[in-house]
Amino acid sequence: MAGNEFTTEETAGNMIRGGRLLMRYLWHVRYLLYVSIPSLLLIVVPAVGYQLFIWLSGLLAECPALASCPAREVAWGVEVTPSLWLLFVVAAVVVAGKIIEWNIFETGGQLASRGLFREMVLGIGRVRTTFFDEYPSGKIINRVIRDADRLRTDGPMRLGEAASGLIDLLVVIAVIAIASPTAALVALPLLLFFVYIQRNVAPMLERVLVLRSARFGEVLHRETDVIEGVRCFALYGQLPTLIERVSASVYRFMQMHFLRGRIEAWGRCLSDVGVALLASAVLTAVYVGIHTGRVSTVTGVLIITASFRLGMVFSWMTWSLGLLFETAGYARRVFEYVDLPAEESEEGRRPPPVAGLTGTPPGDLVFENYSMSYRETTPVILKNLSLRIGRGTKVGLIGRTGAGKSSVVQSIFRMVFVHGGDIRVGDTSLLALPVAEARSLFAVVPQDPYLFEGTIRSNLDRLGEFTDAELEGALRSVQLAVPLSMQLLEGGSNLSLGQRQLLCLARVILTKRPFVIMDEPTSGVDTITDAIMQSVLRTALRDRTIITIAHRLETLARMDRIVELEDGTVLRDGTPDAIIPRLSAEELA
Ligand code: ATP
Ligand code: MG
Repeated sequence: MAGNEFTTEETAGNMIRGGRLLMRYLWHVRYLLYVSIPSLLLIVVPAVGYQLFIWLSGLLAECPALASCPAREVAWGVEVTPSLWLLFVVAAVVVAGKIIEWNIFETGGQLASRGLFREMVLGIGRVRTTFFDEYPSGKIINRVIRDADRLRTDGPMRLGEAASGLIDLLVVIAVIAIASPTAALVALPLLLFFVYIQRNVAPMLERVLVLRSARFGEVLHRETDVIEGVRCFALYGQLPTLIERVSASVYRFMQMHFLRGRIEAWGRCLSDVGVALLASAVLTAVYVGIHTGRVSTVTGVLIITASFRLGMVFSWMTWSLGLLFETAGYARRVFEYVDLPAEESEEGRRPPPVAGLTGTPPGDLVFENYSMSYRETTPVILKNLSLRIGRGTKVGLIGRTGAGKSSVVQSIFRMVFVHGGDIRVGDTSLLALPVAEARSLFAVVPQDPYLFEGTIRSNLDRLGEFTDAELEGALRSVQLAVPLSMQLLEGGSNLSLGQRQLLCLARVILTKRPFVIMDEPTSGVDTITDAIMQSVLRTALRDRTIITIAHRLETLARMDRIVELEDGTVLRDGTPDAIIPRLSAEELA
């Protein structure tokens, strides 16, 4: 099968092997806390009861009359008088035991799994932000929604099924061994055969399940493609190509589905063959035993039913282990996200950590021979950058496309890999601060702000810190005439780009953070809005240090200073009067 970006990049999750994975899962979901050891022992009751039921039935059949059964030894000198009442009691215990057993696994398991999903989301929450650029959204959604959900709902049940099968198996073997040790020996080859099948089928099944999951991620991704791109395809008369692409990815997913079915059927077929061979061997042994007088008829019937039950248990185990392997695949992939490294650990060089900012208020923002790339292995972007931005200065950052302007912003927000040098605020290294504290020094007006669904008020004041008067004052400062109660759609799509940027600026005014970063805030707005923004910088934000990435001459002319970057270093640095005349028309385009 041909690889594609999804199947080649998609991982099976962190390849913790079976036993360790199981232990980790049990520990993580506090399984044993909920499915406690006494309740696990309870599961033995129906398994033993079932065999007792068959044995009692055999004994009752041998009684001369219903009311006159002689006492019989069960084992180890324990005597029991068979009666119909006893049979009913045992039957009731078996039924009640089964109900309790499934409730333990279902209810306990559901309780047990709650925290794992939370840990996975926390794992994604602390990861470096470039993670979201590298992984297609389909993959992340697939893992968070599908893998985690399957693990949460199926994991405990499947563990329960496999555990209950295993207990049944042990009880049945014990019963056969007590009744006739020789017959128990016959079961041994089947046991080995069963282990052999599982060792061969399990890895195949697991691989197919990973591929199936990857292909499902691909289908999800294609769906996003379709939703986003359908207009463009229709415009160019290429809808059949789009449909073909979607169908191809759905077909690739279905292929994995069928392959999985085949492997499972093959495993079950092998186990059925083994069971049939065992049943024949046991039947022959019992037949010979009864005829030579070494085995009583009741014991013979018990062994035969036990061996058939053994067959059922093996089929059950093959089925439930298949499902458990599938769940193990989900568990691996979920744990991979639980284990995602914290973003600080991927930052490269870091000075010794400090607990907090020393010397308030923060002074100049200084880049000292600072070099970075986006990931450890990708090209170095900012190269030995040295730059001092005085407190309260308004700096315009310019440069050709790809010069490194946004990389400066990413560096300030600690979202990159540091190769060398330092960024300081006053005397404190920004890189040494806890990342949340470092970021809390900066407010930002992004190029294309994303607003949350809700009111203007909830977007301006997510934590409910400000009064209506303060919020309205901030809106007035940016001359945005919208009521606080106005409802915004997802992303703020019922506001224009300029309005969204003004709303962000109002938020910046409220937050009082000492540094403000604006990434091309005026590229999509008219000159009047631009003028409003510039006046805000001189009034409400006059005490703040401001770095604006800008192209417009009018915007640049109002700055205290302009820094021009080229290929990750400073090319020019000076006042607007000194720099603007030297900029070519192309540079300002
Ligand atoms: P523009 O004016 O087009 O926004 P810019 O000056 O902001 O350009 P940057 O975005 O800082 O430029 O990009 C500088 C270099 O870093 C470019 O060569 C770009 O390819 C690279 N780069 C940017 N983002 C990433 C990323 N997420 N991963 C790897 N490289 C990146
Ligand atoms: Mg940029």
